[in-house]
Amino acid sequence: RRHYRGDPHGRRMRRAPRRVSDALLTLPPLREIIARHGLAAKKSLGQNFLLDGNLLDRIARVPGPLAGASVYEVGPGPGGLTRALLRAGANVVAVERDDRALPALAELGAVAPGRLQVVGGDALDYDPRGALPGPLHIVANLPYNIGTALLVRWLTIEPWPPWWASLTLMFQKEVAQRIVAAAGSDAYGRLSVLAQFRSRPRIALDLPAKAFTPPPKVASAVVHIVPMEPVRDVPMARIEAVTAAAFGQRRKMLRASLKTLNGGIEALQRTGIDPERRAETLTVDEFAALAAEI
Ligand code: SAM
Repeated sequence: RRHYRGDPHGRRMRRAPRRVSDALLTLPPLREIIARHGLAAKKSLGQNFLLDGNLLDRIARVPGPLAGASVYEVGPGPGGLTRALLRAGANVVAVERDDRALPALAELGAVAPGRLQVVGGDALDYDPRGALPGPLHIVANLPYNIGTALLVRWLTIEPWPPWWASLTLMFQKEVAQRIVAAAGSDAYGRLSVLAQFRSRPRIALDLPAKAFTPPPKVASAVVHIVPMEPVRDVPMARIEAVTAAAFGQRRKMLRASLKTLNGGIEALQRTGIDPERRAETLTVDEFAALAAEI
């Protein structure tokens, strides 16, 4: 027989998830976890931790409601963002390269039974598909170089739409600005075109350096990306080839920079794009038109 508890609309109260979140709310502070497990930040692993629970909850809200959703977290470290994702009701698979963090993450998994899988290893070698039912929301606060490499990998996946549902990624602010930049602006480049050809990137949150422990040298921002239809039906590999050639010699006119690309000059003629323009003035649509002619 069903129990209805104190709800004027007679809806069934779900008690089990509430117990889980209670346990998650009474965890020891992250500083204590870091001290107890000897997780002094290592520069070589790009470790700058986020310890403010409210800020972490705000980041976990960026992908939208996560109750019952599947999340792939890269680089959980001491588990601050992981806690927030679990508090939001997500099921999480997380890959962490620093073995020192694994016992702390196992403790966290114990208070959210069956909802956190932790894999020790390098995110560049790990494929999370199969760990949780897809599509996966990807959430990560990662070192700069790995973050960009993974972003490009996730953006250039075939077939499209990809196996991921959204990306919520922390970057140096300057990199975040490149991802969302419009044609004609200084920040506009290869990363902008790759990100905007078939998804919609936006800066969801700005974070000052002091939000991190230890603080990095520069400010950061969280970028949110959801996949959408390509601006044109062109293979991603061609967009990559055209942007690599055009932005490889960013300051040169297209008639010079596209010489390095087989068929580049002919494509330029066929699209009617002025060969004296520079890469940074071409819209994503124009890049797609060029790619279609290669
Ligand atoms: N998510 C935690 C937070 O927000 O406080 C930690 C963020 S810290 C900037 C980056 C984390 O990524 C560290 O825990 C680091 O050990 C981990 N990491 C670095 N390189 C990695 C890689 N190649 N694969 C998986 N994790 C990596």
